[in-house]
Amino acid sequence: MGESGLRLSKYSVGTGDRFAHQAKAQLQACVQALHAGVEVIPVWNKSNREHNIIGSEPTSIRAAADAAVRALNWTLPYFLDADHITLETVGRFLASCDFYTIDVADFIGQPAAQVDIDEFVRHRASLAGRIHLPGIDDPFEITADDLRQTAHKFLAAVKKAGQVYRAIFAAKGEGNFIPEVSMDETDRAQSPVELLIILAAIADEGIPIQTIAPKFSGRFNKGVDYVGDLPQFHREFVLDVAAIRYAVDHFGLPSNLKLSVHSGSDKFSIYPAIHATMKTFNVGVHLKTAGTTWLGELIGRAEAGGDGLALAKEIYAEAFSHREELCAPYATVIDIDSARLPSPTEVNAWTSEQYTSALRHVPGNKAYNSSLRQLLHVGFKVAAKMGPRYLGLLESNEAVIARNVTENLYNRHIAPVFLGLNA
Ligand SMILES: [Zn+2]
Repeated sequence: MGESGLRLSKYSVGTGDRFAHQAKAQLQACVQALHAGVEVIPVWNKSNREHNIIGSEPTSIRAAADAAVRALNWTLPYFLDADHITLETVGRFLASCDFYTIDVADFIGQPAAQVDIDEFVRHRASLAGRIHLPGIDDPFEITADDLRQTAHKFLAAVKKAGQVYRAIFAAKGEGNFIPEVSMDETDRAQSPVELLIILAAIADEGIPIQTIAPKFSGRFNKGVDYVGDLPQFHREFVLDVAAIRYAVDHFGLPSNLKLSVHSGSDKFSIYPAIHATMKTFNVGVHLKTAGTTWLGELIGRAEAGGDGLALAKEIYAEAFSHREELCAPYATVIDIDSARLPSPTEVNAWTSEQYTSALRHVPGNKAYNSSLRQLLHVGFKVAAKMGPRYLGLLESNEAVIARNVTENLYNRHIAPVFLGLNA
């Protein structure tokens, strides 16, 4: 299934560019990786929600990515990800995108037709029993009941993914896009056994996915580090990788199928486990880091001082006074302690150094403030509302902003995950 046409390489990084001004700075991080000896393919992702908040269209991301690729003479592949799309939202992405993250999390737990469940359980009866995964000591023990329960919980979501896949297929043709299925925006993590069974259902549905984004255990809050049990994450990640390998060998899914980690950005503490697992199993990963480029812009702006710093302070003040409304859509993926948010008056008295150290994600730094960071992370709507005032200063502070964006993406994400270097 899906062994010809567009293929995603072993290592790839998904990166977001809310205001479509940093594609070149982001691509520069992939160029640096190449110089360090590792090919990391860039994928620009922007969700429908982000387009709506900012008032942009996918064509703007296409134009920015193509221009960056030309400017830096990037000759390797690159992709544009229609991130978290559904049947209702996919349309506007069809002309510009060649990577589709089909989000079916809302359909998890909805009942599939009984006849479909029966058919799946009959067809995949051989999964019941002991499954030995290469490189893993303890086999998966799957009962007929597990198979039925998992089908009950996930089959409707997989069938929905099939519908969305076929809609994209009809518009773009076979091999002209990379399909991903995402199930990360839900309450409960999927276990590796569930992942294996879900992959069987995806294969049965005929979706040649090249990446799959499960929900892992622990908290993946936006723009801040992982909160959870690290050894458990590591064990789960290893088992997920082994389940994927089994699915490739036995279900006929594309041989380059790999995990997509929707990190919500800056999950520094899980990077060593991801890197170690990739080395042990000789597999790749797709790492989505999405929204921190916007924070890189803000840091660069504050660092520039003068008008840049003044605008960064104004954005904080606006975000502070609209904090409830800005946080509401992200309630499940942020943990802001209001008592730790400085007042706008306090922030207005800050130097560049004070602003950037509060915002820059350096967990050991006493001045770092994760509540302020998360508020600004979801506060891009404030900048979007400023329109040309925001974008104009992006251009006049371009050099310092670009350096922040490239350094952040390369030193703190690409190097630890793909090269095993600690930031
Ligand atoms: Zn996601």
